[in-house]
Amino acid sequence: MTDSHTAEQIVATSFDVERIRQDFPILHQTTHNHPLVYLDNAASSQKPNQVITAIENYYRQYHSNVHRGVHSLSEKATHEYELARKKIKNFVNAQSTDEIIFVRGATEAINLVAQSYGRDQLQPGDEIIISEMEHHSNIVPWQMLCEQTGAILKVIPINDAGELDLSVYKELLNEKTKIVGIIHISNALGTINPVKEIIKLAHDYDAIVLVDGAQAAPHEIIDVQALDADFYTLSGHKLFGPTGIGILYGKQQLLDNMPPYQGGGEMIRRVSFTKTEYNVLPHKFEAGTPHISGAIGLGIAIDYVEKIGMDNINRYEHSLMEYATKQAEQFPDLTIIGTAKNKSSILSFLLGDIHAHDIGTILDQYGIAVRTGHHCAMPVMEHFQVPATARASFAFYNTFDEIDTLFAGLNKVKEVFQ
Ligand code: PMP
Repeated sequence: MTDSHTAEQIVATSFDVERIRQDFPILHQTTHNHPLVYLDNAASSQKPNQVITAIENYYRQYHSNVHRGVHSLSEKATHEYELARKKIKNFVNAQSTDEIIFVRGATEAINLVAQSYGRDQLQPGDEIIISEMEHHSNIVPWQMLCEQTGAILKVIPINDAGELDLSVYKELLNEKTKIVGIIHISNALGTINPVKEIIKLAHDYDAIVLVDGAQAAPHEIIDVQALDADFYTLSGHKLFGPTGIGILYGKQQLLDNMPPYQGGGEMIRRVSFTKTEYNVLPHKFEAGTPHISGAIGLGIAIDYVEKIGMDNINRYEHSLMEYATKQAEQFPDLTIIGTAKNKSSILSFLLGDIHAHDIGTILDQYGIAVRTGHHCAMPVMEHFQVPATARASFAFYNTFDEIDTLFAGLNKVKEVFQ
């Protein structure tokens, strides 16, 4: 650590990051003979021992299919799977476990809402509003829905700081608006959007709102009731849990009235060739054998972050971000892409005219993992008229020293190109 971050140091010392890092085995390795500095958390975060062990225990001790068996292993697997649902219900403050649907990830959750709710509800000429800063996962499913239904897609623009233009949003809203899809925290810019206000404005026109919380859940306290979100999605692998598991939260009354997304086992109550009856929530939306170990692992990941405390995580990451931003602002030829007032743990940047992929490749030689590219947000790249950015994204196990290492690495990048 350098001497220059006294204020951040106070936060750092009250947050035992070294102790936390002991829980993450993957962090203790070298890449190209340098200690790994993992700053690609927005793409996917690492897993603590507790999650890895829980998955191992499931396969070693009680792997079995859920909901169907009367034998002990199946009962144990079902208990743990449903316990995970309870943990997630509490984590997002849903009213009931019936509102928590296990899906593959944020992408599947959004497709589910578009195809089940959207296809059922939308008429030609109805309108869907999204924003210019959406991840492709919150663009393409709505475009597909528009093609299927004749609905029209409207887009809230962003300003050059990477903030939504809410005055345009207010103008776009009207009686034809049926769905608003909005990213909670931008994965390309780090902007934290005022989702509560966005939802309130949509509800004035009886439009429902889906919030893409893939980037928010690892960093912020999520309260779907306080937000009054109709749908909220999150992604397990970004929340220190396994890949292939995610959550769709939906208000019970909406989910109850929606047709199933996929047909098959588990989602039925009774099948005959004359009439099939669907199962109750949440099973109606979980056709087939679910990702049992994924759900259990995600439940343990939630136990883990809650033990540290989401408010502690938030405070610590905020100080990391402030420190990184200060260094970035002083770094010659560096331009930060995304300078919103309200920002989370994402630092997207350009370095002179060096291509982002070259930055990423050279940093990798020094053990530093960052993301480079369009971050599945091509319209954001188009707004800033760049093909790609380099992106460092932080988690609570990152340190101030690692940020120093990142900027030392960027000095090396500059040396190569001078
Ligand atoms: N939305 C956002 C904001 C994301 O960052 C991502 C992942 N990059 C997704 C959606 C897609 O999430 P998943 O991998 O869980 O499908």
